[in-house]
Formats: sequence, C-alpha cells, structure tokens
Amino acid sequence: MRTSQLYAPTLREVPAEAEVISHKLMLRAGMIRKAAGGLYTYLPLAWRTIKKIEQIIREEMDAAGGQEIAMPIVQPSELWKETGRWEVYGDEMFRLNDRHGREFCLGPTHEEMVTSIVRDEVRSYKQLPLLLYQIQNKYRDEIRPRFGLMRGREFIMKDLYSFDKDEEGMRISYKKMYDAYTNIFTRCGLKFRPVEADNGAIGGGGSHEFTVLADAGESTIAYCEKCDYAASDEKAELKTIHSETEALLPLEKVATPGTKTIALVADYLKVPVEKTIKAVAYQTEKDEVVLAFVRGDHEVNEVKVLNAVDAIALRMADEAAIRAVGGEPGFMSPIGIKKGTKIVVDATVMEMQNAVAGANEVDAHYINVTPKRDFGEPIVADLRLVQEGDPCPHCGAPLKMTRGIEAGQVFMLGTKYSKALGATFLDESGKEKPLVMGCYGIGVGRTMAAAIEQNNDKDGVIWPKSIAPFEVVVVPVNAKVPEQLALAESIYEELKKAGVDVLLDDRKERAGVKFKDCDLIGYPLRVTVGPKAVEEGTVELRVRKSGETFVETKDNYLAKVQELLAVL
Ligand code: ATP
Ligand code: MG
Repeated sequence: MRTSQLYAPTLREVPAEAEVISHKLMLRAGMIRKAAGGLYTYLPLAWRTIKKIEQIIREEMDAAGGQEIAMPIVQPSELWKETGRWEVYGDEMFRLNDRHGREFCLGPTHEEMVTSIVRDEVRSYKQLPLLLYQIQNKYRDEIRPRFGLMRGREFIMKDLYSFDKDEEGMRISYKKMYDAYTNIFTRCGLKFRPVEADNGAIGGGGSHEFTVLADAGESTIAYCEKCDYAASDEKAELKTIHSETEALLPLEKVATPGTKTIALVADYLKVPVEKTIKAVAYQTEKDEVVLAFVRGDHEVNEVKVLNAVDAIALRMADEAAIRAVGGEPGFMSPIGIKKGTKIVVDATVMEMQNAVAGANEVDAHYINVTPKRDFGEPIVADLRLVQEGDPCPHCGAPLKMTRGIEAGQVFMLGTKYSKALGATFLDESGKEKPLVMGCYGIGVGRTMAAAIEQNNDKDGVIWPKSIAPFEVVVVPVNAKVPEQLALAESIYEELKKAGVDVLLDDRKERAGVKFKDCDLIGYPLRVTVGPKAVEEGTVELRVRKSGETFVETKDNYLAKVQELLAVL
C-alpha cells in the first residue's frame, strides 16, 4: 500500500468532542469518523487493526475448539420473551417492527438466538461439548455513548457460547476460554488482568473480566500485590470486621437537630464515624423498597445489594416511598420500619455495639444501638464497596486499587437459558437434561481503543506490532528526487517480498509533515530513505516506541528490520 492512495485524513487539531486519548488519536490519525453518538465509520487504518485483532481472536477461538458461525443481527422478540429478557433489557435494546407489525430487536447479545439453534438440533451427549462463536456488530442503546469506540451503540463483538453435558464440562470449556483470552490479550501486546467479576443480569455461576490497565478505564479493580487476587470493585469480597466487645448500653433516642448527614451527626454527638450506621434506600424494578445499611465510614456496593435481594434493577428510592415504609430520609435505621420491608445490613454492621443510627424521625437518632439486639432479622450480607487498603480476602495483605478497561468477559451461565428455552439433550443413560452453558465476549473496537490508551505519547499512537495497521513504513525524505523514490520503492518491494506488512509513504510532502503523520499513526518501525541512501547506500531505521535509530547499509537493513520486528 502507498500513502498517496491511502484514505487516512489526519487532523492537526485535537477535536473538541473527544475526552480520552484513544478517541482523540483515532480521530486525528484519520482512523475513525463519527456518524452519530456511538456510531462510527472505521476508515482503512482502523479497519486493518480491527481485522488483525479479529484474526488473533479467530485463531485462538479455533485452537480452543470453537466453530465460527454467523447469526442474524435482527432477532424476533418471541425468543426474548421466552427468557423474560424482552422486558428486562429495557431502553438499552434497539427495537423495531417489520411491515406486518412483528417486533424485533437488533441483537445486543445472542444467548437466546444461539440456544434456540442448538435446542432444535442437539439431541445427544455425543454432540457435546459444542462451542459456537461469531464476530459481528452488536447494538446497545447506551445511556451515555462516549469515549469513541470504547462505549459505542454499534460495536464489534466476538461472542462464543459453550454447551456441555454437565457442570464439570462447563468448567473445562470455561478454562479453555479463560486461557484463550489470556493468549489473545497477550498477543495483542496489552498489559491486562483477569479479575473476578459480578455476573450481572446475565445470571449464572462464576465470571472473570479481562481488564486492560489504563487510567481512562471505566472499571475499578482491586488487586493484591502479595497473592494473585484481583476483582472488580463490584465483586471484591470483604471480610467482616469484628468490633471490640463492650458492655452493652440500653437503646436511647436523642435529639440531633440538623444532622441529615453522617458527618454532621458524628460531629454533633462527638462519636467517630466508625461508630455510626449509614442508610441507603432503593426501589426495585417492582417498586419494592430496599433499605441497605453500612458503617458510617463505608460505602454501599449497589451490586452486592442487588444480589442480596435478588432483584433485577435498583434505583434510588423516592422520599414518599421511604416514608410509606416508616422511614425518614436522612434519619433512617431498621428500628421501627414496617414489617415485611426488605432490610439488608452489612455483616460488619451486625458486629457493631453501642453505635449511632437514625430514629426514623426528623432530627432524632438512637444511641447505644447494637444491631444484633435491635435490628430484628434483616438480610445480612457483605454489602460494602472495597476501598484501597482493605484486606485481601485470600491473604489479608492490603488491597490496591487501579483503573482499567473491560475488554472481555467470560461467564459460567449454567442452565439459565437452556431451561428457559427448553434446550435439552439425552445423557448416557437416556435421561433428558438441560444443556450447561457458558458465554464469552470480547469487544474488538474496545480492545483497539484500550491498546491506544496503553500505548501512546505526545506525538501519537505507538502500536504493538501485532495489531498495528502496518508494521513498517518506508519514507523517502524527498519523494520529488527520483533516485530517492526509486530506492524507497525497491526497499518497499523487498520488504513486501520478505512478508513484512509495509506501507510506502510516497507523498511529495515535506519530510517533517510525513514524519509527524507516521508518529501520529504510530507505525512501529520507520525506514527513512534520504540523500545518504543515494550517496552512501545507507538507510535509517527508527523504532517508534523507543525513538532509537539505526543506520544500516542497503545490504543488511533487511536483517535488522527483521531483528527489530521480532522483539517489538
Ligand atoms: P460494560 O459493563 O462496559 O457496559 P458489559 O459488561 O455490558 O460492558 P458484555 O455484555 O460483557 O459487556 O460484552 C462483552 C464485551 O463487549 C465487553 O467486555 C466489552 O469489551 C464489549 N462491549 C460491551 N459494551 C460495549 C460498548 N457499548 N461499546 C464497545 N464495546 C462494548
Ligand atoms: Mg461485561
């Protein structure tokens, strides 16, 4: 490929709409263009990288026993109604009607579709395990599409679904995918961590997110430096903190004027925040009120609350709903709440003694609260959000926190979808059983964006070699000089013959302009053909990542290119 024929409209200015570096650089490097919020065109450079990532994914999926298929993007609502997700998916689902008024959606994911295919054809355990995957556009009407390809409304995903005869089989398939994902992100040249993750609405057993470490990421992960524990902040388990034993004092209501927040009440009563109990009120998708309680210095982890009460979605409760169950916003505790209301209390709170909690009245609190004695029989669970320094649940060392980008996720689904859709098989003894499933996704565009977030400098992108749009760019310093251009052409041809993915920057632009573009686009290696090439027979090789340069003769430059590429 020659730059003169390449459609890569680079920009000098940083586009105002872009917040994160990958989005800015993809726009500036002429890789993508926006059509509407969360909808992008991939121009040739981006598409080359996408194809390379897809190829790596394909090779690893095939090596793990996956078979590639292509399912329709447009899916009938009937399937989604069978699992109940037609309602659950809510506004994130793009819905449409055909000319006969039948309802469809643009696939946000394909559990229903793939299970429906398998239920009609798989009959016997002899056909298992079965691993089917596709690489295809997905559609999610995200509330806040942003960060370019990182959170789009149309995005490319690889999704694989595994079908096994039992849980053990599912775990083997899961492990194969886990290992394949490790290979994929390693081959893409990324620094990442597999982290224990919450299952979310998708349901089922265990799950891991493959998180690319980058400050721009929307995920927060807690990890241990001493052992290999790592988990998303939504998932990170926390041990119960046991309080010192005290002599229990009788419960007492006290006036606490104007103390709507924990800080104010702690200050007013002159107690440490660790001695107070904080409340957060939610409502479920069925409008049921859920009151959650954690220690005053802790934060509530909404995902843990969701799991504890087995709801699908939570939102902040409105004041009227809180009052309807006997609560008073800003002064809440489980004491005096209407019977039958869902109350969830963090396990650490249940260990507290002589603490402060709301009295469900304006400007009043209880002191000497001892939850085990005073809170009745609430749901007790680990509800708190992990904080830096919390002890690792495996080894006790203080946890660290970092930000990352979820590039892929693997789930053990179990029989949730096969049961709902009636996907069964006959086992060795002829008994009918539901298929045991797993599902495994990778965001291809998000992986590309994550690679840029992790690999850039002030001049532009620094592609890992395996996913660079081109590995090497050959630049004649002055393409108007026929000898230079001819020499550059012959080097370009020679590199192509040697199997190098190479681009010739044959534009008759100033050298400075071309070098700037090369750095912006981020080709891993540049071969510069200047006057010295013509006069002395030497070319210059420059490594984008380190800035190192090497002067080589025309006879041995190829070996050096290969040597450098081998380690990039
Ligand atoms: P998130 O929590 O970031 O919304 P998710 O957990 O809903 O993502 P999955 O259903 O696990 O996403 O999808 C598999 C993969 O698809 C994700 O790991 C991610 O790489 C990618 N992905 C999901 N949503 C988007 C999106 N809106 N834009 C680009 N990639 C996405
Ligand atoms: Mg996910």
